Amino acid sequence: MTLSVNDRIQLTPAKTCSPSLAADPWKFDPVPGYGPGSSQADPVPEPAVHPGQLPAAYRQMPEDELHRRILAAKAQLGDELVILGHFYQRDEVVQHADFLGDSFQLAKAALSRPEARSIVFCGVHFMAETADILSRGDQRVILPNLAAGCSMADMADEDSVESAWEEICEVYGADPQNVRPGADGKLPVLPVTYMNSSAALKAFCGRHGGIVCTSSNAEAVLEWAFERAHRVLFFPDQHLGRNTAKAMGVPLEQMPIWNPRRPLGGNTEQQLVEARVLLWHGFCSVHRRFTVAQIDQARAEHPGCRVIVHPECPMPVVDAADAAGSTDAIRKYVAASSPGEVIAIGTEINLVNRLAAEYPDRTIFCLDPVICPCSTMYRIHPGYLAWVLDELVEGRAPNQITVNAEVAEPARVALDRMLAAVPK
Ligand code: SF4
Repeated sequence: MTLSVNDRIQLTPAKTCSPSLAADPWKFDPVPGYGPGSSQADPVPEPAVHPGQLPAAYRQMPEDELHRRILAAKAQLGDELVILGHFYQRDEVVQHADFLGDSFQLAKAALSRPEARSIVFCGVHFMAETADILSRGDQRVILPNLAAGCSMADMADEDSVESAWEEICEVYGADPQNVRPGADGKLPVLPVTYMNSSAALKAFCGRHGGIVCTSSNAEAVLEWAFERAHRVLFFPDQHLGRNTAKAMGVPLEQMPIWNPRRPLGGNTEQQLVEARVLLWHGFCSVHRRFTVAQIDQARAEHPGCRVIVHPECPMPVVDAADAAGSTDAIRKYVAASSPGEVIAIGTEINLVNRLAAEYPDRTIFCLDPVICPCSTMYRIHPGYLAWVLDELVEGRAPNQITVNAEVAEPARVALDRMLAAVPK
């Protein structure tokens, strides 16, 4: 029997990336610092259970009883309910999902179930926000645990991006509220946000001629941006921005880092004038762990093995791998491999383990020997899922994620630009 990541963490806490993962989940959930991880304008859900306050009955319930309750509630709610599970979500939750995918695939999957009134998103906060933006007005999006934020998304908050934009525009002699094209028809700068950001930052892009990208379409989105602007301010993930722009031939010296805690982001005016991509100082705590040494070790232990990593990994890791791609690309890479092949993967461990289970005739393993799930997504324990479903059965809709219209509308503009730039 294959052990789930949760079981492996409980059995070998010393081999996990954070000792808090092995602790009682109700102690782990109220870890401060993430807050709701949402746009500042999002209304606080009402009713809501705050992290660590899950009713005692759900905290004490044995796991088989939680699963029985989840199944019973699903049966009772029928087509009114759709449960979305992210690729990085734990198996104990994913087994109840109607759809499994990346954040954007899931937001679109919800649209294929118009009869579903309640969309329970077993991912993190920015994903629930995106689903709310794309969903119909009579649908409601529920995040089972409000502490399920994204550490990367939290690295670019609205105030820091707004003040960076003002500084940048001043260097380029532009009005930050109304950046106009120059004589050549191009804007001096245009914002691009990764999907892994708050709705407020998607709205910021919508208002300033910018666009959203995913890890699957970042190159096409940057092409779109370079047709319209001399430079791009790319946030929050420096690694996706750098890896993508480098593959497009942008020299590293034209990709300065923007550190929001330093004047001019830690750059000189000359560096900003010469820049093509300003990279926000953000990263994913899961993908940043992968190293070239791990790749070397995998190749030494499995001569002839192939290595694929996610583009949120640091550039030297992407350069040392045989391939880099989004979760979807990684899945396709494994599907296209042959029985007997050995594939080392640099991405979140739940996804890697699921691929290993799906293709038992291949050797598939995670490059990182330490068990390191997306710790914020891991906060959606089956207890929270059982609780929200029971509440829905009772006619209540807790932990509802709502993006205000003044944020949702410009955010949708930036998402629509992406869909128009990269038609699927
Ligand atoms: S894996 Fe990284 S980027 Fe993705 S949700 Fe988790 S912290 Fe955020």
